[in-house]
Amino acid sequence: MRTLVISDIHSNSDALKAVISDAVVFDRVWCLGDVVGYGPDPNECIQILKSLPRLVCILGNHDAAVMGFIELSAFNNEASAAIMIQERMLSQESREFLELLEVQRVEDGITLAHGSPRNPIWEYVMNARTAKENFSAFDTQVCLIGHSHIPVIFIDDHSKHPGILLPSSGDMWRSEKRFLLNPGSVGQPRDRNPLASYVIWDDEEEIYSYHRVAYDFRPVQERILSLGIPSRHAYRLAEGI
Ligand code: ZN
Repeated sequence: MRTLVISDIHSNSDALKAVISDAVVFDRVWCLGDVVGYGPDPNECIQILKSLPRLVCILGNHDAAVMGFIELSAFNNEASAAIMIQERMLSQESREFLELLEVQRVEDGITLAHGSPRNPIWEYVMNARTAKENFSAFDTQVCLIGHSHIPVIFIDDHSKHPGILLPSSGDMWRSEKRFLLNPGSVGQPRDRNPLASYVIWDDEEEIYSYHRVAYDFRPVQERILSLGIPSRHAYRLAEGI
C-alpha cells in the first residue's frame, strides 16, 4: 500500500494540487497538521483533503488557533494576522472538519503527531537533543511529525546524539531502527527550496521516499496580498523560507 504523507499545507491549494497530481497513485493519505494558516485558501484545502482516500489528519497549532482552541498570543503578529483573517473566511463545513481533528494518533503501528510526540501542538524537533528526548515519548518504531517545515529524519542509534538526515527529492529511507521523520511542508517549505515537499510510504517495500514538486506560486502570492494577509507570507513562498 502507498500512503501519501503530507504536512503543513497552510492554505496553499495550488501546492496541494501539485503534490496530489505528482504523487499519482496512492491508497490513503496521512496529513500531519496545519491545514490552515498563512495562505489564501483554507476552505479549498479542506475540501480537497476531504476528497482524498482514507484520510487521517492530525491537528496542528494553526488549525487549533483558527478554531479558538489555543490563544493567539502564542503566535507572532504576522502569523496571528493570517489566522484572524482565516477565522472569518472559514465555512461551517471547514469548521466541522477542523473540530474533529485529533492531537495525536497511532495509525497502522506508526505514531502521527504535528510538532513532537511529547508536545504535539507546540514543540519543534529541530535538533538532536530534542529528538533524543522525544524517543521515549512514543511506543512505535516510527513517529511522523511536521511543524518545522523541514524535510528531516532523526534516527535513534542509542548513542548520545541521534543521527540526522536531510533528504533531497528522490532520496529513499528504510531502517529497522527507531526514527522521527518529517516529510517537509506542502504549502510553505522552509529549507530554502520553494518546491512543495511530500513523502510516499510504501509499506510493502518498507520505503519512505521523498519528493519535491514545482508549482506556480505567483497566483498564491497574489491571493495572499489581495486578502490583506501580511506580505511576508507571500514573498517567502518564492524563497522557501
Ligand atoms: Zn506549520
